[in-house]
Amino acid sequence: MVLKNAWAMKGHAFVREDVAIGEDGLIAEAAGGETIDCAGCLVMPALVNCHGHTAMTLVRGLGTGLPLQRWLNEAIFPVEAKMTPGDIACGMTWGALEMLAGGTATVADMYDFPEAGAAALSQAGMSGNLCRVGLDFGGGNPPGRLEECVKFVAAPQPANIVADFCLHSEYLTTPGFCRALAEANQKFRRPVHVHVSETALEHAECIERHGKTPMRYLCDLGVFDYGGYAAHCVYVTDEDLALMREKGVTLVHNPTSNLKLGSGVAPVAKALAMGVNVALGTDGCASNDNLDMFEEMHLASLLAKGMAKDPTVLTAWEVIDMATVNGAKALGYADRGAIAPGMRADLAVVDLKKFHLDPVLDLANLIVHSMHASDVAMTIAGGQVVYDRGRFPQLDVDAARAGFEASVKRLFAR
Ligand SMILES: [Zn+2]
Repeated sequence: MVLKNAWAMKGHAFVREDVAIGEDGLIAEAAGGETIDCAGCLVMPALVNCHGHTAMTLVRGLGTGLPLQRWLNEAIFPVEAKMTPGDIACGMTWGALEMLAGGTATVADMYDFPEAGAAALSQAGMSGNLCRVGLDFGGGNPPGRLEECVKFVAAPQPANIVADFCLHSEYLTTPGFCRALAEANQKFRRPVHVHVSETALEHAECIERHGKTPMRYLCDLGVFDYGGYAAHCVYVTDEDLALMREKGVTLVHNPTSNLKLGSGVAPVAKALAMGVNVALGTDGCASNDNLDMFEEMHLASLLAKGMAKDPTVLTAWEVIDMATVNGAKALGYADRGAIAPGMRADLAVVDLKKFHLDPVLDLANLIVHSMHASDVAMTIAGGQVVYDRGRFPQLDVDAARAGFEASVKRLFAR
């Protein structure tokens, strides 16, 4: 397959070059076969959503206006308690449709029933790092959870799915659970997906309980011995950031969720300056309330500039890297996030023929400050067209809608 006549993002530049995709699903120097005319379009690496709870499409917008702990306890947890593996599959498929239509081809997902989620995500043609949520609510409850986490990581996964370990957070786990999870991971050596220092209260209570910050505490227990990706990190200290760089822990910035829940703003520019890998995520869409990675790029840029009172902070290219190659790095993929021969053909083709995208003077700026997910015309994952101007060649959207609507109806039945 050859994508012709487009602007192609090659490194930190845009060039008028065809993008060839070989039969192996990788970017090729040259290729034959089908030609797709992409005149008036931009071809860029597909986006990597580094922190999500994708099946929360089922509870989109629920509990709006509540602070984090009340939002979880009063709005989210009661509905989640009713969710079945079938619901998770329907919510995951719905989220995959939204992400693919918005140019996102890889997601790091943390949610219940990951087996059902993995099957649905793989079926939709997306890549994902999934996990069994590791927690023990302060000791032994629910029983057997650590064993389930290990079982999920050890199990064979469907196409394009990777199983990682997850520790929900310091506040939903005991030191014993953290240590046991870290010990179990010595065999698998996977990066660990964790919520860290999301709110001021969580950060302060950890210091009260353990005499150290969540990042220091988790590192001391060995949780990040093989790296990891830490969502939020709003309250991380300079010492935490130095630890993250040392341990290879990615800071996953979730600007919309942090703003909507009133949590604050992560020190992204400082983290980058200190050499920490920084990626972007949407978080679940009950605190977002969509899975639009372009919106996350836009907010990340504005927030960093506004907080620093300095428009030179966080360049457009730094933001684009966060949403592509840095996300890929966080999840352990060296084969995606950039367009170059031998890289996996995970691509987003963006239609530039829009009022809000004209004129094309500075494409990097347009991507970060003008584009929306809905500007994506086509998404290619592993060389396969998985979204094409409103159509999903590999999915029955009517069936997905019927399943999703039935789940929502049952979950919210009174
Ligand atoms: Zn989260």
